[in-house]
Formats: sequence, structure tokens, C-alpha cells
Amino acid sequence: MRLAMIGTGYVGLVSGACFAEFGHDVVCVDIDPGKIEKLKKGVIPIYEPDLDDLVTRNHAAGRLNFTQDLKAGIADCDCVFICVGTPPRPEDGHADLKYVYQAAKDIAGAMGRYTVIVDKSTVPVGTAREVDAIVKAENPAAEWDVVSNPEFLREGAAIEDFMEPDRVVIGADSERARSVMRQLYAPLSDKGVPILMTGRESAEVIKYATNAFLATKVTFINEMADLCEKVGGNVEDVARGLGLDDRIGPRFLRAGPGYGGSCFPKDTMALVKTAEMVGSPTWIVDAVVKKNDARKRQMAHRVGEICGGSVKGKTIAVLGLTFKPDTDDMRESPSIDIVDELQSNGATVRAYDPEGTDQAKAVIKGAEFCSSAMDALTGADAAVLVTEWAEFEDLDFDVVKSVMKAANFVDLRNVFSPANMQAAGFNYLSIGRPAAA
Ligand code: NAD
Repeated sequence: MRLAMIGTGYVGLVSGACFAEFGHDVVCVDIDPGKIEKLKKGVIPIYEPDLDDLVTRNHAAGRLNFTQDLKAGIADCDCVFICVGTPPRPEDGHADLKYVYQAAKDIAGAMGRYTVIVDKSTVPVGTAREVDAIVKAENPAAEWDVVSNPEFLREGAAIEDFMEPDRVVIGADSERARSVMRQLYAPLSDKGVPILMTGRESAEVIKYATNAFLATKVTFINEMADLCEKVGGNVEDVARGLGLDDRIGPRFLRAGPGYGGSCFPKDTMALVKTAEMVGSPTWIVDAVVKKNDARKRQMAHRVGEICGGSVKGKTIAVLGLTFKPDTDDMRESPSIDIVDELQSNGATVRAYDPEGTDQAKAVIKGAEFCSSAMDALTGADAAVLVTEWAEFEDLDFDVVKSVMKAANFVDLRNVFSPANMQAAGFNYLSIGRPAAA
């Protein structure tokens, strides 16, 4: 089949490369000339494990190409995927659909034959209908269907998630479109991946419901961590006890500094807004959004606590800036609020991230960016681990202690054991766990 991906970011590039790996003929389109130039030269503009191999192999095989020219790119395509960003609107936090609508207009003007237009971007319920109306207004003579096919991949494990998903959700209102989508995903359905066919509205709600449910799970365990700290429990034991219940499951029960990233914050907010607009408020999700927002800044107070009550005049090493490991994505990362709060309280911040420094520089101002964890830790009055990159597990705490001004360590991801940190001579605070006996 011939496919076009409109938007060559995390979703468009990963899904485009994976579709090419299935054997489809894929062209990735983007309005960002820098991105397309890099891709043509074999440079991957984002950090995602194993993506460079997949892109290079399929590009060399002639199945994966890149262009800025949308018209040429999508002529003669069976399916055109809208994979553009849907960021929160600055004025109210609802999903900004201007990129989706622009893509819909561009596609409408360029379609050559019957085309399935697929919303892969995360979009509020009703958007497929809206895209349909835009295409109809622009090019009423064309033949098309609009399908909702939300994407569930996680950055850092994006290829595996795309190639071995728990399910593929397809919201379509016509049998013709359903049949094209079945053919497209045959390599997955053939190996037993469930393909869930629904109406378009249901598919759109499924995506938001999934992210809101996962965000709720994270926020719930964070509340249990706070409770454990007050009553002397250990949130890791609580999470294990909860997760062993088959009805609950163990995933997304790791207490931490609050969720971030390009999806959970904006999708929970957009769901709250949609629900408000239609008069069916989602009180649970609303509480999750508020609780999570407040939590990120509260984490900075833990650093003040370990410094004897205040970070004023102190140098703080921040280890890990991206919203999770194995990505360079800084969008809505908890580190942004944590660093800002530390700086507002008078601290000097020395920060290090293995992959996210370039993106971090655009959103974190006034911090000193360091070339290694040891560099950041040198001379620091306290360290705070915000993102659990694997390399931090190998820190040699004898050396760390010798380079820091004071042995104060706040571990917001519970990477280290309180007993080991105490034995290494550190004042150590983590999340929802008692200090070592
Ligand atoms: P991104 O910002 O990384 O990429 C979007 C790309 O679209 C950019 O390169 C931009 O230049 C391009 N673009 C914008 N308008 C265009 C147009 N008219 N024509 C061509 N290109 C255009 O975004 P992303 O992280 O890939 O997310 C895309 C969508 O997928 C969002 O709705 C997001 O919520 C959703 N999603 C993201 C993830 C994730 O982990 N990143 C997972 C699932 C779903």
C-alpha cells in the first residue's frame, strides 16, 4: 500500500518507519525543512532507541522517503495519516487543533483518488467529523473517508510498542475504510494483535480515556506515597501488594515526582475541557490534573528539607531532565517546575541529562548545563535525581561523596536503597519510603 505521514515527529516518523518495515511504501511529510533535510541525509532528528537502524534500512530499501512537498507526497496514496502536534492552547489548556485542521485542508487539496484520511494525532472527540467537514468544504468532488486510529506508543519504547501493541483501535464509519485499515494492519492482526473496530467517537474517547486512566494510576500511587510518609509505610510494598491484584496490575504504580511528557498533561487537560464543554464533568480527572500540577513544585521542597530548611545560596545538582529516560523529550517534564522552584528559592542549579540537554536549554533558563553527572555533582550542596536514566545506577557514591560539598541526596525515583545510601554516608530522602533503620 502507499501511505503518507503528515508530520514527522515522534509518532509520524516511528509509525512511518514501522509501516515501511511491514512492506508498505511510505512518504513522510513535514513543514519543518530542517527535519526533512536531516532525514534525507540519514540523520534522525529525535532520540528514540533503534529508530536510526529502522529508518536507514527502510530508506535504503526505497520504502521510506521524506519530503516537504505535501502535494507530491500524497498524490496516489491509499492512506494519509495526520500525525501533527496537538499542543495545549495557551489560553485554556484545551487541545489546539490548528495543525490538524491545516493538514486536513492541505490533504483535501492534494488527494488524487479514494483516500483514507487517518487521524493518528490525539484529538478531542468530534475531530474526525470536523476533518470530514473541512475536506468536504475544500474538495467536495473528491472521494475519501476519515478514520480515527489513535496511537498508543510510548517514547523510549516506541518501535516495540508499534510493532507489538496491546491493540489497534480503528474508528471508522464506512466499510470501505474499514477494509483498507484491515489490510494496512494485516501484519499485526496476522500475529494475533487485536484490532478493535469502533465508531469514530468511541476511538477518540478510547485514547483520552487510556491516558487519563494511566495518569490517574500514577497520581493515585503518588498519594499513597504521601500517606506512607506520614504513617511509616513503604510505598514500594504497597505498590507490590496492589499490583499483584489481577484486577489492578503492577504497571504505572511507581511513585515519583508527578507525571510529565508530551501526552499525559495535555491529554488529561483536554479531556477535562471536552467534558466541561458537553456538560459531563470528569471530576476524577480534574482532581488528577490539579494534584499532579501541585506535586512537581512540592518536590523542590524536599531538596530544601535536606539542605536544612532552605536552598537559598545552595548549589543543587539536578540529575536527569527529560520527562522519562530514553528520550530527549522535555515537554512538560517535572524537572522544569522543580528547577524553577529551586531557582525561585535562591538555589544555583547545575543540571545534567544524557540526551535532553539541547531541548532542556530551550525551556530551562538560568541553569548551568553540565557534561556529566560527576560534573554536575562537583561542589553541590545537594543532589536531586529527577529522571531515572540507567547510567545513574552506576554512580560510585564514594566518588560522589568526595566531589560534593555536602552528602545530601534526594531520589525522586526511588532508584537507590535507603540502607545503602545511609551506609555510604548520605543524608537521603526518597519517595514514600522510610529512612533506613
Ligand atoms: P511532534 O511535535 O514530535 O511532531 C509533529 C510534527 O508535525 C512536527 O515535526 C511538525 O513540524 C509537523 N507538522 C505540523 N503541521 C504540519 C503540516 N501542516 N504538515 C506537515 N507537517 C506538519 O509531535 P508527536 O509527539 O509526534 O505527536 C503527534 C501527535 O501524536 C500528537 O497529537 C500527540 O498527542 C500524539 N501522540 C504522541 C505520542 C508521543 O509519545 N509523542 C504518543 C501517542 C500519541
